Amino acid sequence: MTFAMKKGRKGGCNLCGSRKFRVAYEKFNYSLVRCRGCGLVYSWPPIPEDVLFQRYSEEYLFNEYLPIFKTDRTGFPIDLIRSHYSFFLHLLERFFNSGGKLLDIGCGPGFFLKVASERGWVGEGVDVSESAVRYATDVVGVRARQGKFEDLNFPPDSFDAIVLLDTLEHLYDPLGSMRRCYGILKKGGLLILNTPDYQSVSRRILGKNWAILSPLEHLYNFSQKTLHLLFKKAGFKDFIIHNQPDFNPENTHSRENQRYRLWKKMHGRLEKSDYYWKWREFKQNELMDDMADLKTADMEATMRGATTGDALRLQAICPGETETIPLKAGLHKEKKRRVGKKTYRFLSRIIRGDTLIAIAKK
Ligand SMILES: [Zn+2]
Repeated sequence: MTFAMKKGRKGGCNLCGSRKFRVAYEKFNYSLVRCRGCGLVYSWPPIPEDVLFQRYSEEYLFNEYLPIFKTDRTGFPIDLIRSHYSFFLHLLERFFNSGGKLLDIGCGPGFFLKVASERGWVGEGVDVSESAVRYATDVVGVRARQGKFEDLNFPPDSFDAIVLLDTLEHLYDPLGSMRRCYGILKKGGLLILNTPDYQSVSRRILGKNWAILSPLEHLYNFSQKTLHLLFKKAGFKDFIIHNQPDFNPENTHSRENQRYRLWKKMHGRLEKSDYYWKWREFKQNELMDDMADLKTADMEATMRGATTGDALRLQAICPGETETIPLKAGLHKEKKRRVGKKTYRFLSRIIRGDTLIAIAKK
């Protein structure tokens, strides 16, 4: 048992240290408990490392993971992989014009690193799965190391960007890992991650049959609130967290269940509704606007208290940044005002998708 595990799991809640919790679900002989201090949901009792790592075996890689990408032992369809990761690359490219040094934590077979390298990024990956790392280096041809991120040494201030795609929920010590990420990011560097949203409509309807609730694999289940706390405690000051209004009703451990049939029907209706697609577009624009705000956060800090005249002078001094300043009161914000706060909060709750996206700047 590692130090991180003792500290992160045995010392109470990973986020707030509280030892008080209530059981939210019982599944696969484990419990999912909700911390009474901060609301973080985690697997209980702590799962031994060897039990957990057995899951990331060669069979898992070849029989479960690679088939998602229609891939076998010898090759991989690069177009499918490009389209799968284009959203995350697009987010990075809104920040950096021409790549930089990138770390992919939980890189798996290295597909993201592959497409990032095509777009100018110099990347390296880390993953606990020996077979995935071997595949990444030998078949995909990217740089990857086997091991737990917590145990590997990276020099401080060494990366322009760090990504954790579907990884955070698997870590033994998310807070410790995020603090390390903060340490090894360069000033102005960016961390991007995605993780399931515990408050999603899918969980509310499917209950314990929601396949994301998987205590042996997903040790932690974050919500917008607990993810916010995680970033704060890790040292990040500038970050945004968004819910993606996308759903997958097939993500269930029981298709016999009535709730599954209900959710499938509701989801079918939702997808036929123009309002849903408008809301989805609205949320995408919101993310992009907040991203623009995050990019200009330093400038905002220097401008705090400045007059409109000062802002105009700043635009004149920094012509390259002129397009980012007006976005502060951009089209999307105008639309948000028209939607109205109450309606916005209501829609955010009832169309709460399966995934959270978080972007943090050091
Ligand atoms: Zn807690």
